[in-house]
Amino acid sequence: MFYEIVGKISIALVFIFLILILISLLLGVILIKKHRFILPKLLLFVMGNFQTQVKKIAGAFGLGERIVDQTCIEVRNHLNVESFARVQAKDRILVVPQCLRNVKCPARLDSKTGIACRECGMCIIKDIKAEVERLGYGFYIVPGGRFVERIVKAVRPKAALGVACCKDLNAAMHEISRTKCVVLGVPLIHEGCVQTKVNLIELFKKMKLGVEDTAANVEKICADANIRAS
Ligand code: SF4
Repeated sequence: MFYEIVGKISIALVFIFLILILISLLLGVILIKKHRFILPKLLLFVMGNFQTQVKKIAGAFGLGERIVDQTCIEVRNHLNVESFARVQAKDRILVVPQCLRNVKCPARLDSKTGIACRECGMCIIKDIKAEVERLGYGFYIVPGGRFVERIVKAVRPKAALGVACCKDLNAAMHEISRTKCVVLGVPLIHEGCVQTKVNLIELFKKMKLGVEDTAANVEKICADANIRAS
């Protein structure tokens, strides 16, 4: 009798778990396709904590694993945007991946602070760095996700804005969310190992959250940067 009850409870829990995953996937699809946030905290709880299982089921339904990373990033951005805007720029850091660099980048890697851009102008990072310095952010060009976690632990910023491919960005945002640091992310629009691309307008808009600046200024900086990048 005891084992029968335990068996029935276990089957019911597995069933509920599967239903939750399916509902989360449905909400994820609605979010990505229609940009509508329905039950965002539940969505993040399920997708954030059971990523392996959700990704397997997403794959079985032909949705691809990427939808899980995209959904988690979007939901975290949605939930954290106001808290991020309340943090002063001097207490924020921006972390970008080394793959944004030009393949001929002359900068060297420092084991503690990442890659030190020499502002040669061969890639978009020169423009990002100029804007970061103008606003007062801390700035790091990093070779990988583990490096980001080390920097957050060492610098202890109140807020962090990260740029990376969907998978790495979601993983880093998940880890940073365990600390007191408020995290936002901007996924790369062109992923890969070298010369990747980020949407500068989206990045600069997020950098300027809560910081007084005009929209015209954002567009001018982006226009100048795009010209230099081409
Ligand atoms: S601008 Fe900076 S990061 Fe980009 S290629 Fe030059 S030194 Fe490297």
